[in-house]
Amino acid sequence: MVDLKGQYAGIKDVVNPTIQEIIDNASFINGPKVHEFQKNLETYLGVKHVIPCANGTDALQIAMMGLGLKPGDEVITSDFTFAATVEVIALLQLTPVLVDVNPDDFNISVDAIKKAITPKTKAIVPVHLFGQCANMEEIMKIAEAHNLYVIEDNAQAIGATYTYANGDKAKSGTIGHVASTSFFPSKNLGCYGDGGAIFTNDDALAHTIRGIVNHGMYERYHHDVVGVNSRLDSIQAAVLNAKLPFLDTYNKARQSAARKYNKALEAIPNITTPQVSKNCTSICEDCDCHVFHQYTLKLNNVDRDGLVKYLNSHDIPCGVYYPIPLHNQKAYKDTRYNEADFTVTNQLVKEVISLPMHTELEDEQIEFITNKIKEFIANN
Ligand SMILES: *Cc1c(COP(=O)(O)O)cnc(C)c1O
Repeated sequence: MVDLKGQYAGIKDVVNPTIQEIIDNASFINGPKVHEFQKNLETYLGVKHVIPCANGTDALQIAMMGLGLKPGDEVITSDFTFAATVEVIALLQLTPVLVDVNPDDFNISVDAIKKAITPKTKAIVPVHLFGQCANMEEIMKIAEAHNLYVIEDNAQAIGATYTYANGDKAKSGTIGHVASTSFFPSKNLGCYGDGGAIFTNDDALAHTIRGIVNHGMYERYHHDVVGVNSRLDSIQAAVLNAKLPFLDTYNKARQSAARKYNKALEAIPNITTPQVSKNCTSICEDCDCHVFHQYTLKLNNVDRDGLVKYLNSHDIPCGVYYPIPLHNQKAYKDTRYNEADFTVTNQLVKEVISLPMHTELEDEQIEFITNKIKEFIANN
């Protein structure tokens, strides 16, 4: 699905010396590289504060801790996402309220959010799924009207740009009150181990969060709040700092691959190629509205699991993200959920398939993959 070895080959000369430097200096924890990366990412995103941490799941949890959410507070999030999002809500003894998504961009449905709001609702967690932003303009309006926090789960969309209806633009992860991201190796900006970060423009919240990531300390050995230990180690920061200047180029490579996939597949009636959000009309050369963390097709009247097997039998990896709606996962079932409220996710889990998507895809590979898909559909 990803070609991290191929990507590394292209940046080895930049990455290796910076890792060596950390080892030579033995500055493994909280070294200068962590600060350097933090500053560079703040500049790239145009956000006031980046707080690095150990992984994207911690980032979400710490963001929620920083906002002071209390047990019993309801947090609305998407039913169609990676479990980390709902997991941390539950871990903090907040009440997850899963809601349906849009059939076109797979992102959280604004109407479903509106329906789910109760007097106990305290926050909304839009997940920018597969590389494009949820409808942040509407979500921020709802949040303002109901006095809710918005925590963007930006693990899959770093580098994406959100376009407002009036044409204004903002980087994903800089629109809500706080955002989280992951630097897991296969993410669009991945390190060589685990890593994550929290972003915010709120000075007071940033201060609170900087203490939480460090055992609740604001002054050495003074523990003012219950915190956690969540650090980005210096070697990972060095890798990320070396890779950050390539992020836009990498995202362009993903978009270029997506355009080629689209061209090969969009005429097939049983296939719906990925849709870009309504303020963005196409995956154009000069636009970053979708950074294709995943390239996900919807299949109509195709034996999806048969296609997965067929592609695998030709050494083509593919993925089903996600095969089970979160509201049907054993850990997150809740008698308050009504199947009729999840018509879209219940359908998507049967129809979606994600194709190999990374920065090193070659035209011949795309041609081979799309030809095999066409072959399967023609013969089944
Ligand atoms: C990857 C991911 C996470 C978790 O990130 P980790 O670094 O693996 O903890 C959270 N949310 C979403 C949507 C993700 O894709």
